Amino acid sequence: MGKGGQKIYGLAKKAKPVQQENMAAYLVDVNTIKILPFKLPSIGPNDVRIRIKAVGICGSDVHYLKTMKCADFEVKEPMVIGHECAGIVDKVGSEVNHLVPGDRVAVEPGISCSRCQQCKGGQYNLCPDMKFFATPPVHGSLANQV
Ligand SMILES: [Zn+2]
Ligand SMILES: [Zn+2]
Repeated sequence: MGKGGQKIYGLAKKAKPVQQENMAAYLVDVNTIKILPFKLPSIGPNDVRIRIKAVGICGSDVHYLKTMKCADFEVKEPMVIGHECAGIVDKVGSEVNHLVPGDRVAVEPGISCSRCQQCKGGQYNLCPDMKFFATPPVHGSLANQV
């Protein structure tokens, strides 16, 4: 490597790491998706932050894209789409003890209440209080991080 190469090395060494902003695919109108910043909340004790590596396009995403609606749900303000996702654990909350940064994970797209009859009976998918990725008002997972 010549003098030029050494100079470049010197510059690279001093360069500050680029803090990359989290971006996501927002559905903003019929057939209109925009890539916009997606600010994540700070990590709670039972939360995990994941660097997303893959996201499936669900039938409901397509319904929302074409009509802004799916079943009884309607997108009234910009919403990040994307349900089924997989990625790498980046950070874990203080109470999380079954995952560590670096773990590869497939993510269950819904969080159930764990208190109702359906949840207690093991049919949490029927929970009336289920919160799903990409179901208003909950944002989805088509993002760099969730
Ligand atoms: Zn889905
Ligand atoms: Zn429930």
